[in-house]
Amino acid sequence: MQVDAIPLALRYKIQYPDEFINAIKRGEILATKCKNCGATYFPPQRDCYNCGKNEMDWVKIDNEGELMTYSIVFQKPQGFENYDNYVIGIVKTKDNISLMVWIKGEPKVGTKVRLTTDGIRLIGEVIK
Ligand SMILES: [Zn+2]
Repeated sequence: MQVDAIPLALRYKIQYPDEFINAIKRGEILATKCKNCGATYFPPQRDCYNCGKNEMDWVKIDNEGELMTYSIVFQKPQGFENYDNYVIGIVKTKDNISLMVWIKGEPKVGTKVRLTTDGIRLIGEVIK
């Protein structure tokens, strides 16, 4: 099936901090944690929405979580046309952080997944 689409041109580049990018290259996922109130943010935030302070620590996200929901992507966005169908899921970690990740393995709501990266994107591997 062919669907007409309007080409999407990105106008803005998002600048992620080096700490975050370097961690992904190592297979780790980082969040920020407020030094004042302890609120944790993913994606990382510079300012705390809870208390208004702006002093954050980098913290490693627990690498195990639960698959809350998922979607199989048949109609790929621009730049992903040549990919096989893939699965995007929302995983919630034990420390209550929700992440959107690519799911590897047979997806099932409620199953445990191991969070990692492939050096570029976040991956949730279904644990059998
Ligand atoms: Zn705070």
